[in-house]
Amino acid sequence: MTAYLLEHALLPDGEVHADVPVEVADGRMVAVGGPPVATVTSVPGLTLPGLADCHSHAFHRGLRGHVQRERGSFWTWREQMYALAATLTPESYFTLARETYAEMRATGITAVGEFHYLHHQPDGTPYADPHAMSRALLAAADEAGVRIRLLDACYLAAGFGREPEGVQRRFSDGDAAAWAERVADLDDPRVGVAIHSVRAVPPAQLATVVEAARGRPLHVHLSEQVAENEQCLAATGLTPTQLLAETGALGPLTTAVHATHLTDDDVRLLGESGTRVCFCPTTERDLADGLGPSRRLHEAGAVLTLGSDSHAVVDLFEEMRAVEMHERLATQRRGHWSAAELLAAATHDGHASLGFDDAGRIEVGARAELVTVALDSVRTRGTGASAETLVFAASAADVTRVTTP
Ligand SMILES: [Zn+2]
Repeated sequence: MTAYLLEHALLPDGEVHADVPVEVADGRMVAVGGPPVATVTSVPGLTLPGLADCHSHAFHRGLRGHVQRERGSFWTWREQMYALAATLTPESYFTLARETYAEMRATGITAVGEFHYLHHQPDGTPYADPHAMSRALLAAADEAGVRIRLLDACYLAAGFGREPEGVQRRFSDGDAAAWAERVADLDDPRVGVAIHSVRAVPPAQLATVVEAARGRPLHVHLSEQVAENEQCLAATGLTPTQLLAETGALGPLTTAVHATHLTDDDVRLLGESGTRVCFCPTTERDLADGLGPSRRLHEAGAVLTLGSDSHAVVDLFEEMRAVEMHERLATQRRGHWSAAELLAAATHDGHASLGFDDAGRIEVGARAELVTVALDSVRTRGTGASAETLVFAASAADVTRVTTP
C-alpha cells in the first residue's frame, strides 16, 4: 500500500480539489479522499490522471526540425515522410519509438495509441520474424514506461483502384485476409486494429477489417484532406464517412482520426453512431490540413479524444488548448470548450478509445497513474489551481512527476 496526499487534484467532477489523500494497492487506487493514513508522500502541485495520446506515428518524430523549409502541402510533406519510412529497420524503428515514448512519458502521457503501418521489408516481403516491426514498438513502449495499444493498420492501396507504390509496398499485406491473419498471429492483448484510410483499403475489403476488429478498438484516418473526399466520391459516390457507415465501421469502439473536412451528413453519422473523433491540432496545423468541426461533432454525439500524431510537438496540454483556440479562429467567438471537457478528452475518454476504460480518472478502482504539474513555474505561477490552469497556462514542460504502477 502506498499513500499520497495530493496538494491539488483534478477529480472526475472536472473540478480541482485541495488536500486529496489517495491510497494505491496492486496498481489501483483503493481510496480517494477520506482521512489520510499515517505514512503519506506529499505531492505538491496540481495532480491529474495520466494523459492518453490516442494517435501516434512514433517514427515521424525523426522528421522534427528537418521538414520545415520548403513550401508545399500535406502531400509534399508525405514524400519527406516516405523517404524516412524507406530507410527504417526494426532497430532504428525501435530507437525512434523509444525516444518518442520517453518524451511522452516525461510529459505526462501514460498511454499511447500507436497507428502502425510499417509492417514489412522495403521490397514488401515479410521479415524473418513477420512481427519484427510490431515487436519493436511494443518493446519501445515497455522500456519507456508507456502503456500501448498497437493499432495495426491495414494498408493495401495507393488510392482507389491503385496498387501500392514505392515505400507503400512495406505497408501492404496484399489483401485484407492476409493482413488479418498476420494480426491474429501476433496474439498480443495490446493489439488493436486500424483501417489506414478509405484510400488505402479497397471498399470491398473494408468489411474484413471491421470483422477482425470486433470487440477491439478500430481507428481510421478520416477526411484529413479534401483530395481524399474527392477521390472517394468519384470512386464510390459516397463520402469517406458514408462509406465507413455503409461498411458498419462506425460505432463507440471506433475512432475517426482528424475528421477535418466533413459534410453535415458526415457529422450526423459520426455523432449518431457514437463514434469517437481524435483531433491532432498541432499536427493538423503543421501539415496545413484545415480546421475540423470539433464542437459540432461533440454536439452531434461524437466523443473527442486527442493525439500528437506526427510529433512535431508532443504536448497534450497544447493539444487541449488548440482545440478551443482553433474554434475561436474559425468562428470569431470565444468559449466553445470548457477546460473540464478538454481534460476529459485528454484523459478518460482518450484511454477508453484505446480500450482502457479503467484509466484516466482519479477514482477508486482506476489504474494508479498520476501526473503532477508544477504551480510555481514561469508559466503557471499566479494562475491558481484549476482546470483552466491546466488547459490555458500549463505546458508539457511543467510536468514534474509521473507515477504509474
Ligand atoms: Zn496519422
